Amino acid sequence: MEYLSTRNNKFFVDSAQAVLSGLAPDGGLYVPRKLPEIDVEAVLKMSTMDMACTIIGALLPDIPDMDELVRRAYTGKFETEELTPTVPAGNFTVLELFRGPTSAFKDVALCMLPQLLTAAKTVKGMDEDILILTATSGDTGKAALAGFADVEGVKICVFYPHGGVSKVQRAQMVTQEGRNVAVCAVEGNFDDAQTGVKNIFASSINGRLLRGNRCRLSTANSINIGRLAPQITYYFKAYADLLSRGQIAMGDKVNFCVPTGNFGDILAGYLAKKLGLPVGTLVCASNANNVLTDFINTGVYDRRRPLHKTVSPSMDILVSSNLERLLYFISDGDTELVSKLMGQLNSEGIYAVPRALRQAIQTEFWAGCCDDARAQQTIAKVFKDCGYLCDTHTATGWAVAEDYVNQVNDGRPMVVLSTASPYKFPAAVLSSLESVEGNDEFKQMERLQEVSGMPIPKNLAGLDKKPERHTNVIPKDQMLEYVTRL
Ligand SMILES: *Cc1c(COP(=O)(O)O)cnc(C)c1O
Repeated sequence: MEYLSTRNNKFFVDSAQAVLSGLAPDGGLYVPRKLPEIDVEAVLKMSTMDMACTIIGALLPDIPDMDELVRRAYTGKFETEELTPTVPAGNFTVLELFRGPTSAFKDVALCMLPQLLTAAKTVKGMDEDILILTATSGDTGKAALAGFADVEGVKICVFYPHGGVSKVQRAQMVTQEGRNVAVCAVEGNFDDAQTGVKNIFASSINGRLLRGNRCRLSTANSINIGRLAPQITYYFKAYADLLSRGQIAMGDKVNFCVPTGNFGDILAGYLAKKLGLPVGTLVCASNANNVLTDFINTGVYDRRRPLHKTVSPSMDILVSSNLERLLYFISDGDTELVSKLMGQLNSEGIYAVPRALRQAIQTEFWAGCCDDARAQQTIAKVFKDCGYLCDTHTATGWAVAEDYVNQVNDGRPMVVLSTASPYKFPAAVLSSLESVEGNDEFKQMERLQEVSGMPIPKNLAGLDKKPERHTNVIPKDQMLEYVTRL
């Protein structure tokens, strides 16, 4: 199947190459030239694993044995065989995406990506090893480490800001086992780490370092179509759950509210809709970093503003990469326009879409934002009213979903996507429920378990007792040096 860059409609690669490359040579993102046909009613009757095989297989047909790859990726790794269960809570249905090996929704994609990448390598006859470089603000790093640990022919190196992630997130990363993994703290913030990684790529030639390590460089970032495709499955799964509970009849429209950062998760919902799933409105929820709220409401994307540090750090982002794919689809594949807008974003930090495009976006999406105080009030309220404990990112989604219902009131069922376990952010979650003393996040976890009765996920329990294997801290100008020695 042919993929093209969002910025150029004259250059095509197949789906295996799109997964291997990640980013197109012109800096655009890969999109399928034509979306595949899917028998939606048949898919909705399948198990989650079979749904994943069908959907990922349809989007990436040049990667063989999808059935085998999906089973290898997911079997035994999630708390439940349905991978992403749904739970009715109050007026909403919560879609729990955090039941995977690292308790973050990124597991859904990052369990699958190593399988796709190694299969694509084989198809393309590539015999070099791949070195995955990732800068993380917390969640992606651990999910990528867990996904790639001990995968043949791949190494992974994760950089995180020293003192810039939660204690739980740090413990998750520095205790990572596996013979092909490296984790290193960088003196600086997340932007410094990310810039360092970009510089390493920029100083490489054709993705190869000039000295030291001879691997081909790649990333586990959500611009890769191999990360996006697996996320479409859980929209079908949630719809199937509503059907089987008798909450909807086949064909009824369902709204989804998505706590959004890089726009990957919500874009997967848009693709589910384009593949024929009866999706109503996609509600885009942001925290105080509300660039997307403004964009969807006004058609102007303006990243020229300070980045706020919030209690939902995985959504602290000013440039949402995957929005580029939405612009492509919604403009009916106008690569010239997308290329122009992305150029403006790069040079001026701002762009405005044509009026017709803004209107088209507003028929599919609705956007709102929620600050930290309201997110924490929402955690307390949802727990008190529904007995359901959610994390800070999910609470942001919940609050914005309420705004949507109050303002639009279309009577359709609302599914709120839950993107992290509350135990990944124990300080912010516990302090929403009661006053908290001290800053021992592992004690707070225990207390949260007492208060909520919800068990601490296995991968997080006892993390503070595991040996720390990766304790390097380096200045930000030594990242390249570090990588050459891997
Ligand atoms: C990454 C992440 C998000 C944002 O998802 P995008 O696909 O980047 O929009 C939201 N919540 C959590 C917990 C995350 O880790």
